[in-house]
Amino acid sequence: MNKLKEIVILGAGYAGVTAAKTLHKKLCKDPTVRVRLISQSPFHVLLTQLHEVAGNRIRPSDVQISLKDVFEGTKIEVVEDQIKSIDFEKQILKGSNGQYNYDYLIIGTGSEPTYYGIPGMKEHSLTLWSLEDAKKIKAHIRSMFIAASQEVDPKKREAMLTFVVGGGGFTGIEMIGELAEWVRDLCQIYNVDRDDVRLIVVEALPNILPVLKKKGLVDRAIEYLTNTLNVEIKTNSPICEVHPEHIVLENETIPTRTLIWTGGVKANNFVKNLGLPLNKRDRIEVNEYCQTCYENVYAVGDNSFFIDEKGMVLPALVEAAMQTAKTAAKNIVADLKGQEKKPLKPKLHGVMVSIGGNYAVADIMGIPMWGFVAMMMKHLVDMHYLWEVNGFKLVWEYIAHEFSEIKGGIGVLVRHMSKKINAFWLILLRIIIGLRFLTEGIHKIQDGWFGEWEKLASGASSVLWGEGTPQWYVSLMKTFVVPHQIFLQKVIVITEIGLGLLLIFGLFTVLAALGTMAMSASFIMAAWGGPIWDPLMLFVGSFALLGGAGRAFGLDYYVLPWLFSLSKKPVSYPKHITFEQ
Ligand SMILES: Cc1cc2nc3c(=O)[nH]c(=O)nc-3n(C[C@H](O)[C@H](O)[C@H](O)COP(=O)(O)OP(=O)(O)OC[C@H]3O[C@@H](n4cnc5c(N)ncnc54)[C@H](O)[C@@H]3O)c2cc1C
Repeated sequence: MNKLKEIVILGAGYAGVTAAKTLHKKLCKDPTVRVRLISQSPFHVLLTQLHEVAGNRIRPSDVQISLKDVFEGTKIEVVEDQIKSIDFEKQILKGSNGQYNYDYLIIGTGSEPTYYGIPGMKEHSLTLWSLEDAKKIKAHIRSMFIAASQEVDPKKREAMLTFVVGGGGFTGIEMIGELAEWVRDLCQIYNVDRDDVRLIVVEALPNILPVLKKKGLVDRAIEYLTNTLNVEIKTNSPICEVHPEHIVLENETIPTRTLIWTGGVKANNFVKNLGLPLNKRDRIEVNEYCQTCYENVYAVGDNSFFIDEKGMVLPALVEAAMQTAKTAAKNIVADLKGQEKKPLKPKLHGVMVSIGGNYAVADIMGIPMWGFVAMMMKHLVDMHYLWEVNGFKLVWEYIAHEFSEIKGGIGVLVRHMSKKINAFWLILLRIIIGLRFLTEGIHKIQDGWFGEWEKLASGASSVLWGEGTPQWYVSLMKTFVVPHQIFLQKVIVITEIGLGLLLIFGLFTVLAALGTMAMSASFIMAAWGGPIWDPLMLFVGSFALLGGAGRAFGLDYYVLPWLFSLSKKPVSYPKHITFEQ
């Protein structure tokens, strides 16, 4: 009897999810391998948007992606557990809820803040490295405004309304940008003068955003922060001490009750206690295949300390997390299949930093971008990632929550588009359009379209074009349709009747509506120059049906969930294969 090969992925962050997706793609048809993704939370959290939650632009649920939804019906078994230790000799992970054997292990437990031993930092600062952190920051900022609006002592009020971000890296700058936008609203709500509020970034290095290498980008970021958002930037200013009501820099003391510390990260503390060889910031040393000192144990994402051929350490970024994860997953598959492993050749395409909801700076493949263009690039990259994780659904949710908060322009458009139409109100429209196509098809049969006569275009007259139809369309019809008209006129009749029936019964409504849209578009072209209202109404009506018109009193209500469940059949293992829990 063969023993099932067990692959365990620890951590469902950017690296863990990417590794799981890659393994599913490569091994979904292999019943001799079992893949488990162990996560301490049921969600994959989009850390790169945490500052938007902290700054009240989006809701906490907007950055949580259900692992169950992503991996339902795939090769990947999601296990919710917090792993406490790993026995590398016995190849067992020990968690709060159980123990898990592995033949191959991928460790991707991410990072946590480091405080560099600065007195009071751990006790009195807020951090931004988890959803809980983001929610805490949001609640704290609001509570400061509430308290300040009732405070009579000017010194205490000043400390309440001074918000400091420690660290001018991309996390710190994204945080202060978000805060600056939210503060405008908070000032109005709590009747606070904006001039009474101080927003400060404190950075130990001579400049902020050292990740941006392209000349001029940092200057643009500084200009936007200081001139548009009214943020003070203090560089060359290491924080020496942190107290509940003030912080001490080298040359000054700032009265504040809010320090958001983004100044440093290291690998998750869990990693430190594993006993694996570590390097800077407690990251696990890995070779070119992302293997640790144990051949069957891989470290990925922020957990891995990877040095490329040029001697550069791979930074703790999403792109690096995804590339290390793909390498680890592919090398495990190669090992299983007795193939040669491939080394990681990292290719980082750049860094994008948003400063609030309306501005960003970016260095993408050496091309500097700023303002609206950089912002759109960031959105495109975010959407591309979401598309890879779980397709259009996540992309649409992203568009809805990211753009609907923007004032004017695209925000108004998205808010309008996000309004849900009750499927019930579309039933009548669906049936009328269905009847229209059905009767049209029946009339055509009665008119002899099923015979051998040329009905589409005979002599000078044609139902395909009229006097006003653009010439390019007429040529198109003459080239592709007219030569096959006897065959195509039958196809048209069958299509009209078929689409009509599908709409009447509400079956595959979206596809049927796309079909009636296409046919209406050709009717519009044929009637061009004359009255086109009838086909235009059909086109617009069909478009409205795309919004789920078959789900109320239609067969889609029953058929689509059934089809969906078929496509997500759980993986079953052959009987001759066993596995231990
Ligand atoms: C506010 C913020 C903004 C950022 N912005 C950007 C950006 O714009 N661009 C960019 O490239 N990078 C950005 N980053 C960095 C980026 O988020 C990280 O590099 C990336 O998350 C690393 O992915 P990972 O999979 O290694 O770890 P993570 O995404 O942190 O995932 C680790 C997972 O492991 C789980 N886990 C941890 N311990 C255990 C355990 N013992 N048992 C079970 N599960 C466990 C955690 O719950 C988590 O799900 C940002 C980070 C933050 C915090």
